[in-house]
Amino acid sequence: MELKDDSGKLFYVGGCVRDEILDLPSVDIDVCYEGDVIDYVLARNYTIIKAQKDIRTVKVLIDGREIDFASTRKEIYPKPGHLPVTIKTGCPLKDDLTRRDFTINSIAKSVKTGQIFDPTGGCKDIKTKILRVHHDKSFIDDPTRIIRGLKFSLRFGFKFDPHTEDLKNEYLNNVNYDMSFSRLKKELIDCFNLNFDEALERFINEGMYKLLTSTLPQKPLISIKSIVNEFKISSPWLLYLGSTDLSRLSLTKTESKIINGLKKIRQSKNPLLECTKSEVQTVLLWTIYDNPEQGLYYLRNREKIKPFITGKELLHLGLKGKQIGKVMELIQEARFKNPKLNLDDELSIVKTFQDRL
Ligand code: ATP
Ligand code: MG
Repeated sequence: MELKDDSGKLFYVGGCVRDEILDLPSVDIDVCYEGDVIDYVLARNYTIIKAQKDIRTVKVLIDGREIDFASTRKEIYPKPGHLPVTIKTGCPLKDDLTRRDFTINSIAKSVKTGQIFDPTGGCKDIKTKILRVHHDKSFIDDPTRIIRGLKFSLRFGFKFDPHTEDLKNEYLNNVNYDMSFSRLKKELIDCFNLNFDEALERFINEGMYKLLTSTLPQKPLISIKSIVNEFKISSPWLLYLGSTDLSRLSLTKTESKIINGLKKIRQSKNPLLECTKSEVQTVLLWTIYDNPEQGLYYLRNREKIKPFITGKELLHLGLKGKQIGKVMELIQEARFKNPKLNLDDELSIVKTFQDRL
């Protein structure tokens, strides 16, 4: 989408400029104004949706699309690993660009003239496929940049430049756990939802797991990517991180249920039976990290190995409450062992069960 500007001080910045240079489509547009953007927008009759007065940003509606306009800003990190604090708005564009994560994301393009402003060599780094931070404290200020780097590396085939790589390793050997784990979680979700097996290989091999825990995660026994594709999992990040200690992240109820379910399957004498009570992602975790053969057998055949007899029919046969659950488990177990059993076979299991009561 093309914006209009008469001031010469409005710039496209960040991902959209990088993507244009790479000739890739961009999902969102980031725009910044070298000055006060709220004054800029007010003077031009834009439809304002929301303004954030303290950091001088504004959401406007253009051609039916919501676009964030920011004022250039300078930031500091009073507490490393936590949100930065804006110390100046309307600062020179260069200061706004050098507060960013990598040089490839620190390029601006004038909305009025199309001229590129690239004070840190981002265009060259895009050409040579290099991820380079702006200063030696970049990962200390914001360790989530390590995961952002992994994400860009996977998406575009870029590599950390040797000095940035050293800074990354240095940080990973001295992680400061007093950090914003909610920001880290967001970046982990974005990165692992790309669905690359290589993401987890590198996360483990390059020690990025240390951002969460000192315990080395277990490697998957099969390709997670192929599992995700076969079972059409739309948000698979938890499958990639299922063997990593996530206790530092705040998980939603559903996420905790998926992870805790794995413990239940692991403790069960009959894991396949436990699978019938678990969420699909829990069964997938067990399949990936513990038992691909049995897990895949269950997942691919679970429709076929569902008991024919229903709870209602068992009620009619005179069974009550817990007995129904118990006999269903016996039938299910028998069906796992021999998927060819039919309704008559199931009825004889019920009969044997009743005879023993
Ligand atoms: P994507 O295509 O994934 O949206 P992006 O580069 O646009 O990539 P965003 O998360 O949308 O990434 O952020 C927009 C811009 O904000 C980035 O290009 C970068 O300049 C800056 N930015 C985002 N996160 C950080 C961070 N943790 N530290 C410094 N700058 C950041
Ligand atoms: Mg973006």
